[in-house]
Amino acid sequence: MNLHNRFNEDRRRLIDKLVKEGILKSEKVIRAMLTVPREVFVPSDYKDKAYFDMPLPTYEGQTISAPHMVAIMCELLDLDVGMKVLEVGCGSGYHAAVCAEIVAPSGEKLSNPGHIYSIERIPILVEFARKNLRRAGYYDRVDVILGDGSAGYPPEAPYDRILVTAAAPQIPKPLIEQLKKNGKIVIPIGSSYYQELIVGVKVAEGEIKTFKAGGCIFVPLIGKYGWKYYS
Ligand code: SAM
Repeated sequence: MNLHNRFNEDRRRLIDKLVKEGILKSEKVIRAMLTVPREVFVPSDYKDKAYFDMPLPTYEGQTISAPHMVAIMCELLDLDVGMKVLEVGCGSGYHAAVCAEIVAPSGEKLSNPGHIYSIERIPILVEFARKNLRRAGYYDRVDVILGDGSAGYPPEAPYDRILVTAAAPQIPKPLIEQLKKNGKIVIPIGSSYYQELIVGVKVAEGEIKTFKAGGCIFVPLIGKYGWKYYS
């Protein structure tokens, strides 16, 4: 079997497992995760593990999240075609590509395609993500920005959804401000070792209703409104 077919088969097997386990539920997230080639977003030394359900190293001590965590966060976000999404923590660009595949599906001529703005603080990862997104065909639907995403990305605010893929001590105020009314944020909150996935819905200006959606472990969100060390 050639490598391309093997990756396709491994991807199908992993998605089937996530569906059976009840982690993947909605047709749109299942379709997006079946479409986006995770092998393109994994550093070359780890390509053979692209469809292991585990986080993998990228650069500078950072990671690409495990597929089950990408699935859980996308299900919680409840993304739809046409939405404008901010991702904080672009990393490899994989999660941004999965979101892009939902808000602006490949091959569809849409009058209102959605868009992803994904911000990353480490320059080498910004380059890595841009290269991966170009190769995988998502460069038109994802803008990768170098910067401190703990302060959000004001030029494109407000957003329908905000996805944070690094762990913060609390929800950064600017991210709440940059959400649309009834917009949703999904963010890991807790210590730098262990966190709860928090879902927040902006019910009114300055007011957010939150609920907990399970434990998780992410690398720290480092920046003005996150953890201060290393910055
Ligand atoms: N979403 C990524 C993917 O699909 O590969 C995985 C992200 S990784 C778990 C978390 C990322 O958040 C790291 O690449 C890290 O450099 C980044 N990060 C941490 N603090 C940040 C900040 N203040 N602004 C932007 N990115 C940040």
